[in-house]
Amino acid sequence: MRIVTVIGNRPQFVKAAAVSPLLRERHDEVLVHTGQHHDDALSQVFVDQLGAPQPEHQLHIHGGTNTAQTGRMIAALEPLFDELQPDAVLVYGDTNSTLAGGLVAAQQRIPLVHVEAGLRSFDRAMPEELNRVLVDHAADLLLPPTEVAAAQLRKESVAGRIEVVGDVMIDVAHRTRPAALEAGKRMLASMGGLTPGSYALCTLHRAGNVDTPERLTAALDLLTGIGVPVLLPVHPRTEARLKEFGLADRAAAELTLLPPLGYLEFSGLLASATAMLTDSGGVQKEAYVAGVPCITLRDTTEWTETITAGWNTLVDLNLQAAKAALATTPPTARPDLYGDGHAAERVVAAVESLG
Ligand code: UDP
Repeated sequence: MRIVTVIGNRPQFVKAAAVSPLLRERHDEVLVHTGQHHDDALSQVFVDQLGAPQPEHQLHIHGGTNTAQTGRMIAALEPLFDELQPDAVLVYGDTNSTLAGGLVAAQQRIPLVHVEAGLRSFDRAMPEELNRVLVDHAADLLLPPTEVAAAQLRKESVAGRIEVVGDVMIDVAHRTRPAALEAGKRMLASMGGLTPGSYALCTLHRAGNVDTPERLTAALDLLTGIGVPVLLPVHPRTEARLKEFGLADRAAAELTLLPPLGYLEFSGLLASATAMLTDSGGVQKEAYVAGVPCITLRDTTEWTETITAGWNTLVDLNLQAAKAALATTPPTARPDLYGDGHAAERVVAAVESLG
């Protein structure tokens, strides 16, 4: 079969690193990078570290509003799909690239596979929520990571076939754990011998948290007031907003700022952190799998199982709630929520069922 996979942002490179090599053992995969994340630190590093294939096509589309960006991607993907004539199109998650790839495939009646289907935050103000709902309803084959996500798809009566496969990001987390632990040790040593358990790691870049001075200031208040040193690899979007709002000096003075990290370095630092503070999606489940309590800087999450399991707390940007969460000991039980590390094999088998 010929499968065209469309990716565009950081976590999609991680997901492709799980699925693409397996897909390529038996099929002709063409990887298309829309360019949504064009920074090497958010894309090329995953090709180098994780063995995601080098994309065959780069569309260089980034910037602009969500609508304009998605529109440009659609316009670029349509002739490309015409030329490539794929037997299936595969998309991941909830980005503009996901929606653009999904819509063009559906319009051209090319079977559409959505990996990480069925996730919902129930917050339609999030661009990601719109993207995931729309793609789920356009897809022919929906591959949710969990039974909770599959139940949501059934509740919404999606038209496509549903098959729970587990979480492909967790495949990568399992596979890279030894190398990540080594990279983490090197990172700690390079930061003056920082001790495991003496810091919290943070990611912060959701539009809702960084795009206004009020919210970004509240986020800084939380990170600097929580009572534990915070390491923050700064996402390019956040870096731009810190400068724009005149908050860069304060952030540099009160936090340990790092550049966006490679996957191994980031996972290694996560493994030894006392807590993960994040507004990312994927990082919430990576913290869970690493056994690190997560404090989520949002008031909704699509990874609700981590909350139910007692390992994740939604605090939005409320400092007192964050302090309380940090003081709470997580339960001893940490059930296997996201599969056995072999989700990608199930994705490939499910795709083959379309052939
Ligand atoms: N990540 C990374 N380096 C960093 C921060 C995150 O490699 O400095 C990885 C992280 O382990 C996860 C993915 O990037 O696999 C999450 O990306 P991001 O937070 O951009 O995505 P979101 O989940 O918010 O869409």
